[in-house]
Amino acid sequence: MEKDDAVKENEKTNFIYQEIDKDLLDNKNKGVVLTRFPPEPNGYLHIGHAKSICLNFGIAQHYNAGCNLRFDDTNPIKEDEEYVDSIQEDVKWLGFKWVGEPKYASDYFDQLYLWAVKLIKNGKAYIDDQSADEIAKQKGTPTVPGVESQFRNRSVEVNLDLFERMKNGEFKEGEKVLRAKIDMASPNMHMRDPIMYRIIHKPHHRSGNKWCIYPMYDYAHGQSDFIEGITHSICTLEFEVHRPLYNWFLDQILEGDPIPDVRTRQIEFARLNLNYTVMSKRKLLELVQKGIVDGWNDPRMPTISGLRRRGYTPESIRMFAEKVGVAKRDNVIDVALLEFCIREDLNKKAMRVNAVLDPVKLVITNYPDDMAEWMETPNNPEDETMGTRKIPFSKELFIERDDFMEDPPKKYFRLGPDREVRLKSAYIIKCTNYIKDADGRIKEIHATYDAETRSGMPQSQRKVKGTLHWVSAKHCFEADVQLYDRLFMDPEPDGHKDIDFKEFLNPQSLTVISGCKLEPFLKDAKPLDHFQFQRIGYFTVDSKSDGKKLIFNKTVGLKDSWSKNSQKE
Ligand code: ATP
Ligand code: MG
Repeated sequence: MEKDDAVKENEKTNFIYQEIDKDLLDNKNKGVVLTRFPPEPNGYLHIGHAKSICLNFGIAQHYNAGCNLRFDDTNPIKEDEEYVDSIQEDVKWLGFKWVGEPKYASDYFDQLYLWAVKLIKNGKAYIDDQSADEIAKQKGTPTVPGVESQFRNRSVEVNLDLFERMKNGEFKEGEKVLRAKIDMASPNMHMRDPIMYRIIHKPHHRSGNKWCIYPMYDYAHGQSDFIEGITHSICTLEFEVHRPLYNWFLDQILEGDPIPDVRTRQIEFARLNLNYTVMSKRKLLELVQKGIVDGWNDPRMPTISGLRRRGYTPESIRMFAEKVGVAKRDNVIDVALLEFCIREDLNKKAMRVNAVLDPVKLVITNYPDDMAEWMETPNNPEDETMGTRKIPFSKELFIERDDFMEDPPKKYFRLGPDREVRLKSAYIIKCTNYIKDADGRIKEIHATYDAETRSGMPQSQRKVKGTLHWVSAKHCFEADVQLYDRLFMDPEPDGHKDIDFKEFLNPQSLTVISGCKLEPFLKDAKPLDHFQFQRIGYFTVDSKSDGKKLIFNKTVGLKDSWSKNSQKE
């Protein structure tokens, strides 16, 4: 992958690179660098995950090192194979390759169990018979020390026996847990005898019915990193306070062992927040389950699959991740930056085509009835190598309804009575007449063309102010177009105490327009093809289009209309 400017700029300022450089200078981990992206397969990935993916795989690329994909699948209640598949698809689509096969925390359940036994034997863990509620009540507060459980001082033998019986399924869910024996008075709440294992009588998507005790995320995560030889475990800021616990677990499991070559170091960065959306998987799942959106990949969702269906490219998302950079303080990024990135990318790549979304008929009265000319037009004026194609011109055309005004103001450079415009890649025409229907709506516009003004011909130098896009009535075909607006009307829909985030849903977030007229070239368009509908915006084919009717999704407008509007307010 070629490095673009944003990547280079980021490398200079990225504090994580600086930390890794220091570790390499100190010859830590024998000079090895290995990172990982560790999603929990309990939902589809979103743009926040994309940030983490670009960061972890970006580090690997920068140091010519590797990055693992590891599923942190420690909770069989919420996890599903569908998510495992979608996550792999999304990471690949973003352009990254993990080392070897995907890894799973569940592959380490045996090892984690043995280490738990080691902790018990060393008097560092115990079985607690209290309920989760009772344990929570004893936790204290940051300023008030917790209370030690009455089961804290069970003998090693009893603990070993109970743990074994927990594993063998002798107890019901919630009847017992395994807790680390650390310090109920620690100023760090995570060190107050955290739970290591709980009983869940539910099959796991990979280990099936083998286990009915499952490690807590905090007990599994650091050890999984260590097992894989991850040198730098990059995670979001909320895990900073978990770091002492992860280090404590590592110290315990390594107790008495030789010093390993690699000892994982955790480095935290600020999670990505984006305005006008929600990023919690729980809330995204709720939108899916309640049918508020059309699945995880609804083009209005902040998910990677939603952005893909909307027409975002991997390059644009990577550019966005680089531009956001890595911070040590939480911040909210304006979604306009994401839109800027896709516009930049598609401006270079997208083929310019003609589509009329709100058509009105334009008849060229002095053009021969049966004639058609195929006009040459550049596929992308930004990139000559994309070549040209021919578009059909004929007597009856469609133009946008709002490109004509009966009584236009002076500065209106589109069509009006007796006015001239150029039809892009074709002729200059002059409006001679217009016909209205019974309701007073314009039904048909009449114009004459000037044969001398054919685009590309030497004599076509005459200039007019306005240029319109158009399609030929007898050559075009009809398609639906889906226009999107923000899914939420509030910049921070889940930032309001006592108001449910769904209260802020934008009722106008989706507009479906049928009967749009498209130039014939687009008949063969496929999902993930990108187009600029001239003068309108960027579009892609919706993945739900079938052979009968094409549906185009608007990716983004040509200009940043949103931020201009919000500046006005
Ligand atoms: P939850 O814990 O609510 O299920 P999560 O968003 O933390 O969700 P994970 O699957 O645990 O989801 O995340 C995988 C990785 O992506 C983690 O390393 C996490 O830190 C990172 N990540 C998640 N959300 C963001 C975000 N908004 N910005 C940056 N990184 C993120
Ligand atoms: Mg998480």
